[in-house]
Amino acid sequence: MDTSTPSHSKVRTSHLQRDAYLYVRQSSMRQVLENTESTKRQYQLRDRALSMGWISEQIRVIDCDQGCSGASDVGRDGFQQLVAEVSLGNAGIVMGLEVSRLARNNADWHRLLQLCAFTDTLILDQDGLYDPGVFNDRLLLGLKGAMSEAELHVLESRLQEGVLNKARRGELKIGLPVGLAYDELDRVVLEANIQVSETLKKFFATFRRLRSATAVVKEFRRENIQMPRYSRTGPKSSRIIWGDTTHSQALRILHNPRYAGAFAYGRTRTRRGPDGMLRYQKQPQEKWICLIQDAHKGYISWDEYQTNQQILTSNAEAFSSDRRPPPREGPALLQGLILCGRCGNRMTLRYYQRKEQLTPQYMCQRDKIENGRSNDCQSVPGAAIDQATGKLLADMVNDRNIDIALAVHHELQKRLVEADRLRYLQVERCRYEADLARRRYSKVDPDKRYVAEVLEAEWNEKLRVLDEAQRTYEAARERDVATLNQEHTTALKTLANDFASIWQDDSLSNRDRKRIVRLLIEDVTLLKDAQVTCHIRFKGGTSKTLTLPLPQPAWKQRQTPPEVVQAIDELLDDYPTFKIADILNARGVNSGTGQPITLAHVTRIRFAYGLPNRWTRLRKRGKLQARELSEKLGTTCEKIRRCRELGLLIAYEYKKGHYLYDEPEPGIVDQIPQLRKNARLIVSHTTQEVQYAT
Ligand SMILES: [Zn+2]
Repeated sequence: MDTSTPSHSKVRTSHLQRDAYLYVRQSSMRQVLENTESTKRQYQLRDRALSMGWISEQIRVIDCDQGCSGASDVGRDGFQQLVAEVSLGNAGIVMGLEVSRLARNNADWHRLLQLCAFTDTLILDQDGLYDPGVFNDRLLLGLKGAMSEAELHVLESRLQEGVLNKARRGELKIGLPVGLAYDELDRVVLEANIQVSETLKKFFATFRRLRSATAVVKEFRRENIQMPRYSRTGPKSSRIIWGDTTHSQALRILHNPRYAGAFAYGRTRTRRGPDGMLRYQKQPQEKWICLIQDAHKGYISWDEYQTNQQILTSNAEAFSSDRRPPPREGPALLQGLILCGRCGNRMTLRYYQRKEQLTPQYMCQRDKIENGRSNDCQSVPGAAIDQATGKLLADMVNDRNIDIALAVHHELQKRLVEADRLRYLQVERCRYEADLARRRYSKVDPDKRYVAEVLEAEWNEKLRVLDEAQRTYEAARERDVATLNQEHTTALKTLANDFASIWQDDSLSNRDRKRIVRLLIEDVTLLKDAQVTCHIRFKGGTSKTLTLPLPQPAWKQRQTPPEVVQAIDELLDDYPTFKIADILNARGVNSGTGQPITLAHVTRIRFAYGLPNRWTRLRKRGKLQARELSEKLGTTCEKIRRCRELGLLIAYEYKKGHYLYDEPEPGIVDQIPQLRKNARLIVSHTTQEVQYAT
């Protein structure tokens, strides 16, 4: 159809002053290779542009989407480039073969149409030239877009239905996991390669014994058993390659029902996300499209498969998820937000009980789990990190920051108002057109009924368009202009001032505190070497780096402080061991674990640090035993003891009730009172005076 024959009249100088964009697209690589005819036709459009008055330097070709599938414009830079050029008003005309397929997705297409209408850009395809600013042309173009999307849909659903029917009968020939193969009659059999099938048999037997995928991976690594898998890349993509078992591979094998001889279809659903990327979602068994048990030979029975699933589920529940989990009750502030600075994986969390308190430890175990290694990638005590982050937050949320945020908001609001104005102009234009249609209708001669009907229909249509434009406008306005009034501003500022006190309030639950953190912090990357570096990314896009000293290991934290050891060393010079604990406690000194010091502590510390005991110290200083002294003085040990008790000899206690002596001045023995046999020593309780009773 050639509705726009007087096409050249649509081309005005304003169009010719801008460039012409030729958009070349083929939707699959095969089309690119085979369908050169259509490519040729696309380039013929260029000649038409030349004939309409553009010069060849002005014609720009966008063909970088060659080989991209067309269901969405995400990942198709060419289409986005085109949209950008149109919206910047650089394009006078956009050309494309079957122009509606520029964008296979109707939403993309309408956006392009609207932009073309706003910027007065023409559209050219093999059928003719369109001005999207003119209602008729836009309607036609819109229809073309809708048709092509519908066509795509019908095509796809027919294909899909065929596949599904085949799948339900179990006749669909789909790719098999490694270890299974099709024979000449298209029946599924075990892999003829003995190494492959034997390895898989061993794999399932090992799982039967160990009941854990991680344990199987570890055992296979330890025994150096390689697992087969299909190479996904390269010229021979179904070639079997051998390598170390990974955790994800083990799980894939264990979850695959084909190894149990069952034909299953629809275990995952594919959906396109809002960003145009494909999302795969695993389906529970009862939602699979088709499941035929005992469809072919397998490595395990269906019952064993079911048991394995149960084991895996209960194993999985025992471990926390690798994804960002919801805030839980535990005290670790950054739970679920920590990334490993070494390998980029999300770090997991473990708590240690320490004196009635849970202290967090952030650890990266991805490599350990995936590759069966015995060591963590890195593991960092979390208490200091949590504390520093909390302090940083309390410092950062203050008046000034809120002011900046408000300024940014103001700027955004200004931009929104501008956008709002542009959208309003569109409504105004629709209103003007509706008005025009009304006037045309009212001026028509009532006798010319046919004309009147046409004009009335046109008027109605314009009114409908106006109504739609108005509604779109209102919706956009509501969405965009969330006004931040004075009241809000004040409330925000008060909150900022209160933040520090709210943060430190003990009644704030761990879960709430974590929620606050998640509102403000995107993630934290940890790297431990000589010190711990925390790179904190905030939601707003700013980031901060904290460097913390490496926390001491637990044994070191519990170690007796060196000054206590020194004090014990010094005290041993002057006091027997059993008195030292009391002296230290009187000084208010605590042990490494914060408990009062006991005799056992002192003895242990003395041994641990190799401190010489009191006996050795005294002997070194030349102090004598009672026996040695008695020999020297020619008297008895008993007499020596009496002398000490009377204060005639200077003695040093080294153990409770045991003494060493200074060598006395000569003649001291003569002062010793004569001891009578069976004499009793009487100590006065009031004066401590010593007498010998007869
Ligand atoms: Zn790591």
